Amino acid sequence: MTPARPAPDFTALFSARARRMNASAIREILKVTQQPDIISFAGGLPAPELFPLEEVRRAADAALTRYGPAALQYSTTEGHPPLREWIGARAGIPAANVQIMTGSQQALDLLGKILISEGDTVLVEAPTYLGALQSFQPYGPRYVQLPTDDGGIDVDALAELLQTTPAKLLYAVPNFQNPTGRTLDAQRRRRLVELTAQYGVLVIEDDPYGQLRFSGEPAPSLYELGLEYAGDVEANHILYCSSFSKTLVPGLRDAWVQAAAPIVSKLVQAKQGADLHTPTLNQMIVTELLDEVLPRQIETVRRAYGQRAAAMLGHIGEQFPGGVQSTRPEGGMFLWVTLPEGIDSTRMLERALSRNVAYVPGSPFFALGGGENTLRLSYSSATPEQIERGIAALGETIREALD
Ligand code: PMP
Repeated sequence: MTPARPAPDFTALFSARARRMNASAIREILKVTQQPDIISFAGGLPAPELFPLEEVRRAADAALTRYGPAALQYSTTEGHPPLREWIGARAGIPAANVQIMTGSQQALDLLGKILISEGDTVLVEAPTYLGALQSFQPYGPRYVQLPTDDGGIDVDALAELLQTTPAKLLYAVPNFQNPTGRTLDAQRRRRLVELTAQYGVLVIEDDPYGQLRFSGEPAPSLYELGLEYAGDVEANHILYCSSFSKTLVPGLRDAWVQAAAPIVSKLVQAKQGADLHTPTLNQMIVTELLDEVLPRQIETVRRAYGQRAAAMLGHIGEQFPGGVQSTRPEGGMFLWVTLPEGIDSTRMLERALSRNVAYVPGSPFFALGGGENTLRLSYSSATPEQIERGIAALGETIREALD
């Protein structure tokens, strides 16, 4: 037998872009937390027991009957026309300004691809959605972190920053943010839209959770405010992303962008290079579900997450030692815990795992570091009993770390 040839040095061949990518800190943690005896508040998964399984089965059948082989054929990059029409009508904009995406994760990647040149300044919340950082990272942005508090982005700090720092893009999750569960205050939204318009900064508004409000009053989206400010869909500087992942099911990977025509046209070109189009049948299935199943499903999910959030906050109040703070989300899937200074949540994770409870440490959500004493808890896919036991175990872990 001839000796095996030495393997090429693959890693030396990676592009400059690929070298900027790094393994998601969360994914590594999730591997550990998937053991069956661990109560995991770490994953950000929608509750699978609430998925409308039968309705999806019937919708697939209906779509195959309605469209025949066309349901399984290649289709247009822009997306299934009735789906774009429905989204456009709901937003009060032409369907031409709606681009269907394979998950809003693809929207983030392709928006990054068409907008970020190496060294461009991108403003992000501190903390922000880790998946957005992962999407943008290969394109070589220079991140600037925006300070946040319980009302979301500190717009006074933004105003000050923009006086001295020219920025290309601002990325924000204004509703029930991943990771903090916080919502951007209504007054601040107006100010943010005006400031970014005045300074020529494009805004990516990422809104997968907006429909999942379980308390408080809804605020207008940045996109709606941008439309009001600009007076025309083609002059709106807000690029809005949303998704059926959290309201319906994530596995169909159906999401969309609302934006001015030049952005949509460039996204079409980028998407042709990425995947040609979002799977035809999946778009048709979602379209079948829009009128009846989607509103019902949103109600079901809202109610369940509202109960789970309340249960988690109740137990946190009873079980966590003084000096530990938590956000009080009005919707979505996450809450954010701040431990007393000096406790490192990454180091504490091992002790939590030994008590069979898992969370995600907060620091990976900061583009430029920080937040060592913070952590994210997800309540979306835990049972009341798991929430009670898990929070008690986490309370013990924190107390031990304080000793
Ligand atoms: N943006 C945010 C803020 C998210 O939390 C997620 C999912 N965790 C996504 C985008 C991606 O969602 P999807 O690709 O399923 O639409």
